[in-house]
Amino acid sequence: MSVKGFIFDIKKYSINDGPGIRTTVFFKGCPLKCWWCHNPESQRKLPEEFEECTFRWHLSHDYENKHRVGSEVTSDEVLAEIKKDIPFYEESKGGATFSGGEPMLQINFLNELLILCKTNNITTAIDTTGYTDYKNFELIYNQTDLFLFDLKLMDDDLHIKYTGVSNKIIHENLKRITDTGDKVILRIPIIPSVNDTEKNLDEMIKFIRSLKKIREINLLPYHKSANSKYDKMKKENKLPELEPPSKEEMNQLKDFFASTGIKVKVGG
Ligand code: SF4
Repeated sequence: MSVKGFIFDIKKYSINDGPGIRTTVFFKGCPLKCWWCHNPESQRKLPEEFEECTFRWHLSHDYENKHRVGSEVTSDEVLAEIKKDIPFYEESKGGATFSGGEPMLQINFLNELLILCKTNNITTAIDTTGYTDYKNFELIYNQTDLFLFDLKLMDDDLHIKYTGVSNKIIHENLKRITDTGDKVILRIPIIPSVNDTEKNLDEMIKFIRSLKKIREINLLPYHKSANSKYDKMKKENKLPELEPPSKEEMNQLKDFFASTGIKVKVGG
């Protein structure tokens, strides 16, 4: 049975959302409101209309609607898009990534897509904030191959300030899922002056060392490419002047996180 859900994009030939060449499906809706969000169009759960929105949406039936962000689609429609790229997955050991927003906000839709991919021998990854009831992780754990799990800020007050939610449930879920098995790549956005402070980095290292099994750490440098989206969508950009971290800083951070003994990569 096809299940319906809301997405805002499907990106083809992605090389930053997990191993190999991937098709990334972006779910609409996010429980967080990060100040540095590079997908502000993901945050609201339902499609949004904009006067001057000129994004292109990749599903053919909504291709003409240049004023809308987001579409309601069926799991069969999404699977059909994913299946078009099977030759690339086979060559590169890639697959499908479900991102957002937070894909677990639409857990039934996500679960159905994971089952469909598994039935078609397509490997999957879930890019998650970790901000969800743990029973959702339990439901999908065996259906997916990989979690791209975000870690942002260790201090809870700062986490609430910069993302709108507490980090407690996120850190508990990360601990439980890394106790369960070897399916987590940790993704750490590097946001200058927000989470690259000595205190936050030291606390992150301590926390990571306490976790049972992390496959890899990906450090994701902040970039400014979303600034024009904020303008087009007339949304408030809380960090308009923020500059990306330098290459040197990213290399230093790479060495710093490598002290955990875990493989570290700059980028996804
Ligand atoms: S978790 Fe990701 S999608 Fe959600 S608000 Fe933060 S940066 Fe944006």
